[in-house]
Amino acid sequence: QFAARVEPVDLGDGGRGVILALREQTEQVMIERMRSDFVANASHEIRTPLASLIGFIETLRGPARDDQEAREMFLATMAEEAARMTRLVDDLLSLSRIEVAESRRPEERIELPELLARMAETLRPVAERSGVALELALAPLPPVRGDADQLHQLFGNLLDNAVKYGASGKRVRIEAEALPMAPPEAGPLSGRAAVRVAVIDFGEGIPPEHIPRLTERFYRVDKARSRRVGGTGLGLAIVKHILRRHEGHLAIQSELGRGSRFTVYLPVEES
Ligand code: ADP
Repeated sequence: QFAARVEPVDLGDGGRGVILALREQTEQVMIERMRSDFVANASHEIRTPLASLIGFIETLRGPARDDQEAREMFLATMAEEAARMTRLVDDLLSLSRIEVAESRRPEERIELPELLARMAETLRPVAERSGVALELALAPLPPVRGDADQLHQLFGNLLDNAVKYGASGKRVRIEAEALPMAPPEAGPLSGRAAVRVAVIDFGEGIPPEHIPRLTERFYRVDKARSRRVGGTGLGLAIVKHILRRHEGHLAIQSELGRGSRFTVYLPVEES
């Protein structure tokens, strides 16, 4: 049945028609494989905390039944695991909601400096508890067209990561500025008017070979570490999808032992 789809292709060059048809099929197979990988990964991610919850319940019913101290410890760990599962399910729901909305252009006029300053105020006490000072360097910016909730989520995920993985650097910096012409690292926005927001940490950095894969669902540099800090492995995938809807771009720079810079470019409407 696929060969029938080859026929209408202009076969000025016979080989080419065949290649196109095969590619189409390969793409379809790849999409299906990605979808089933995602379901398998998501199930595994949900099963892991569930298995540990079940293990703890068994211990609480059996060996730890009369050990008050052990019970308290197990219950605290169980509460943490349950909270992580909740975050995971929330992130999965977010991802699917963002995907559904992806084809609709966001319509709100967003004042980013206001949004970022408000977010920083909320996050500051949390960051300070991890020994991280938040610094803000916000230039005046033209409004961007966007979805306020999604942009809040996008910058929230980047800031959350900067505090989680960059805590050893003791400070996290948010910089924002308007650019009449975005640089080449802005990808499709390069050469156009754009707003640039960078979330910078001075922590351990990321080995270069991992950088291109960070926005894949469930990709983590150090799985155990991500689990320990309560990560779901979906934060940057969510960032990528929100940026796709906003026709924006993410650039990641990092140096081992020095820190990381996650730079978001958003288009500015030219008047
Ligand atoms: P997670 O829930 O694991 O944090 P993310 O999708 O937000 O998932 O990030 C994916 C991975 O990228 C993380 O597990 C971590 O290894 C790495 N990462 C993200 N942000 C930073 C950062 N600021 N510094 C170092 N590593 C980071």
